[in-house]
Amino acid sequence: MATGIKANVKTYDLFIDGKWQPSAKGKTYEVIDPSTEEVIAHVPDATAEDVDRAAKAARQAFESGSWASMTAQGRGRILFRLAEKIRSEMPKLAELESRNGGKPIVEAEFDINDVATCFEYYGGLATKIQGHVNPVPDNALSLSLREPVGVAGQIIPWNYPLLMAAWKLAPALAAGCTCVLKPAEQTPLTALEIANWFEEVDLPPGVVNIVTGFGESAGAPIVNHPEINKIAFTGSASVGKIILRAAAENIKRVTLELGGKSPNIFFADADFENAIDGALFGVFINQGEVCSAGSRILVEKKIYSKFVDAMVEKAKRIKLGPPLDRDTKMGPLVSKEQYDRVLQYQEIGKKEAKVGAGGGRAKAFGKGYYVEPTIFYDVDNSARIAREEIFGPVAAVIPFDSEADALRIANDSPYGLAAAVWSRDIFKTMRMVKALRAGIVWVNHMQPTYVEAPWGGYKQSGFGRELGPWGLEEYLETKQVHINLNEQPIGWY
Ligand code: ADP
Ligand code: MG
Repeated sequence: MATGIKANVKTYDLFIDGKWQPSAKGKTYEVIDPSTEEVIAHVPDATAEDVDRAAKAARQAFESGSWASMTAQGRGRILFRLAEKIRSEMPKLAELESRNGGKPIVEAEFDINDVATCFEYYGGLATKIQGHVNPVPDNALSLSLREPVGVAGQIIPWNYPLLMAAWKLAPALAAGCTCVLKPAEQTPLTALEIANWFEEVDLPPGVVNIVTGFGESAGAPIVNHPEINKIAFTGSASVGKIILRAAAENIKRVTLELGGKSPNIFFADADFENAIDGALFGVFINQGEVCSAGSRILVEKKIYSKFVDAMVEKAKRIKLGPPLDRDTKMGPLVSKEQYDRVLQYQEIGKKEAKVGAGGGRAKAFGKGYYVEPTIFYDVDNSARIAREEIFGPVAAVIPFDSEADALRIANDSPYGLAAAVWSRDIFKTMRMVKALRAGIVWVNHMQPTYVEAPWGGYKQSGFGRELGPWGLEEYLETKQVHINLNEQPIGWY
């Protein structure tokens, strides 16, 4: 097809109705390895016509009963088979994820194992979707039936590409929905690769359709499509607002996970060594490209200067390197766009606060979107670097006086995705846990995430919950059924 494509660079099609198909316009775009800045694949630049084809295939698969009417056991078994296949191909998928997104290979391996676990979990849950008998006062049987919401449009980000796909596909499929999934434009490769196995695991054609492309040209048509009943979105707050407005047009159900500016709070009585590790892990894991990143580090004044010194000292030793090196702890950022954005915030931070570590490009690398792990301290909570989500390895350290002060600062944010509290005082810790306005609160840790436990935010971090039984709920409708058991006439007229 197009000229200038290297022989070793794979070209993908869209996956629609169980078949690989080029986009209607035949256009593709380049997928980049952010550590080398080289093209590693070409994928379709889909438009509304392609989304329409995908949505109709999903609708057809839903209406034909090939999925929703399959037994729950049957759907569950297919999810188990997919999980097993993903687990057995973990090294290959992890390598691709790492190359495509820049994340360290060791982290990518954890991610892919979590992907398999997510499909297993929801494979098991498929047979636990329970109805209800409603205790109405009349001589009747009143039931609540749980039914799939229909076709789900799923728009996902680039930071955990296949894991975010799994968090959305697995519960939707368990519920009996069919899907149109759009990976982020930067990181479509692992989602496309797993589509190669759908037939082998007996997933019927049209049940999962994958459309690659950009937000406005491929994402917006999903949100606008009349055959799509629900949108699940993870991404930026600004795009979340656009989606919510667009969904109003045909009253689509929407769930949004929009990131945050999560406080990681350290009291003086916390275990010091663990605390330093926890502060760094909370904000630098996955290059800080984490929606729940502990990007505001609140430290009690009694330990503040010692804490900042220790953090800075350890941050300087974090090993940056090529994503595929097993000892790399931080790879490049995902894209040039994200790299420019983070560098800009680093410049803003230099005007707003003091620089403890980093503050710019990681100069050891000739190529690639490498950024130094950066620590700003003496940050005021009103600063832009304390209010705006940066989505990169940039920490804002903020001192506090007392428990009340810590709570006030922590909750003073438009976001409310996550928070963490470090202390050995159970009374103080539990008071904080109750008063923090966040959807996830960790105590003496930050970031562990489990498919069994709910995930989602308060305030402008969005609404709806993923994972666990909560994640399944978002893909279910409730039908009330009233069965009259009284054989007498109604007798009203
Ligand atoms: P980032 O700014 O980090 O790229 P986004 O929120 O823009 O985060 O992207 C998250 C996902 O949302 C991606 O899959 C992207 O293509 C998609 N997206 C972006 N803009 C829109 C839009 N207007 N409508 C629907 N989806 C969009
Ligand atoms: Mg964007």
